[in-house]
Amino acid sequence: MRPKKSTSTTTSGPAIAWHDRLKYFEAKRDAMVQTIRELVEIESPSDNKPAADHLGVLLAEKFEAQGAPTRRHRTHDFGDHLQFDFSGQEKTKPVLLLGHFDTVYPLGTLETMLCGVAGDRLHGPGVLDMKSGIALMLYAIEALQAWHGQLLRPVTVFLVSDEEVGSESSRKITESLARESAAVLVLEPAAGLRGAVKTARKGVGEYTLKVKGVAAHAGLDPGKGHSAILELARQVVAVSKLNDLRQGLSVNAGVIHGGTRTNVIAAEASVAIDVRIKSAKQAAGIDRKLRALRPIDKHCKLEIAGGINRLPMERTAGVAALYKKARHIAKQVGWRLQEAAVGGGSDGNFTAGMGIPTLDGMGAVGEGAHAVHEYIAISELPRRALLLATMIESA
Ligand SMILES: [Zn+2]
Repeated sequence: MRPKKSTSTTTSGPAIAWHDRLKYFEAKRDAMVQTIRELVEIESPSDNKPAADHLGVLLAEKFEAQGAPTRRHRTHDFGDHLQFDFSGQEKTKPVLLLGHFDTVYPLGTLETMLCGVAGDRLHGPGVLDMKSGIALMLYAIEALQAWHGQLLRPVTVFLVSDEEVGSESSRKITESLARESAAVLVLEPAAGLRGAVKTARKGVGEYTLKVKGVAAHAGLDPGKGHSAILELARQVVAVSKLNDLRQGLSVNAGVIHGGTRTNVIAAEASVAIDVRIKSAKQAAGIDRKLRALRPIDKHCKLEIAGGINRLPMERTAGVAALYKKARHIAKQVGWRLQEAAVGGGSDGNFTAGMGIPTLDGMGAVGEGAHAVHEYIAISELPRRALLLATMIESA
């Protein structure tokens, strides 16, 4: 089926036959599932460059088949990041489609966490976060090319391989591409089963607090030691008091290490701390408070490392305007698209933080990101693809 050709880039003109578009994507549903399965069945953990590059080859093939050359950003420790530039009939600024193809699952996970369909669900590691988001990009671009011959406006696709571990090696590229773009659409999963797009995300910080104590034999010289573990325990209590959940600020001492043997007063201990902030203004305050921690046992020393990695994605006017467009598009096919503020960070935090209008959670609908029951709802794919395709035209 070939929907009526659109001659307008507005979302309200009669040129767009909404239900034809939805039907187009409904007819593509099984093909989309097949593509997603192909992507899931090549495992791509963030910390395994050869595995991630293996998937990168398939991705490059698929986007090149749609007419965009691959621009490979080589990295040493992660899979090469992939950029695809599609030209458009109009010489406007591109829309940036942002995604990542790394997952949190170690190699071999597919053996126990199978990729497969059960009813309306497609299961598999990374299926929701966010290999189906990449498939949605492919099908949205394919559709726009089918409807218009060539994309009406330029589109840049950027797929990174280190998002799940903080995007250190891709961040600068993401930011420079965003700077040249009219808007950024992030294909991370939608929020919850109602499929809300994400208009706010918390900022994320990671810190490590190390305690150096004084070792001693626990039996022979118990009075001479200064336990790093005891000091750490007290510091963990102090850190937990920095929580201010009402203001959307949370601090979690998530991993502790320390000590060597039961009969030794511990010389060293450490704690890894996760920090979430709701507004950029909170970043400096919590950072200062963590750095101001002082030893309670004066014979112990504290060292703090780390910082705020991602500033919050705040619901700016630009973000709200994009959501309004998306809601309008959804309404045309009888869909009440909701918005959500979430605690997790994504690369959308970077681009929104630069003031570039960003809409996140444009990807698939499902549950269990980073968990063994991860799945997407297959029946949601057509309208997600419709939303993405139309947002590319109107963002
Ligand atoms: Zn993700």
